[in-house]
Formats: sequence, C-alpha cells, structure tokens
Amino acid sequence: MEHEHLHKLVESIFTVHSDENEIDCEGCGCQIDRLAEMVAKGADLRELLPAVEAHLRCCADCREEFEALVAIIRSQDVADPLA
Ligand SMILES: [Zn+2]
Repeated sequence: MEHEHLHKLVESIFTVHSDENEIDCEGCGCQIDRLAEMVAKGADLRELLPAVEAHLRCCADCREEFEALVAIIRSQDVADPLA
C-alpha cells in the first residue's frame, strides 16, 4: 500500500518534469482563444500544442474554459443561415 503510493508519487513527479514545454494556467490562458478556434474547426490539439493539451487534461479550470470557448465558436460557425 505504502509502496504503491510512493510509486505513484514518483511517477507523477517524473511525468511533470519530463515535459520540457510544461505550461501553467497563465501560459495556457494566453493560447486558449486561438487554440479553441482551431480545434473548433477540426484541428487536433494534441498535434498543435501537446503542452497545452497536457495542461488541459490535468487542469479542470482551463479545460472548462477551453471547452466553453470551443462550444461558443462552433455555435457561431453554424449561425442561422437565413440571417
Ligand atoms: Zn490551468
């Protein structure tokens, strides 16, 4: 039990530090607008910016903001064709 916990801890530390392009919420927020736009148009975030994708996976705040933006952009793209 104790051992398993330690292993997970070491693993998480290693994973974080193995990513040289690691970004924080601030760095993520700077890119989120244009990234949401590209993803809404069908781009693959993991190919565009793996560091941001990795951050979104472990940060609920940024992920929610990102997904909300994608949803907004998508709904604008299919704006009323009769307008
Ligand atoms: Zn974040």
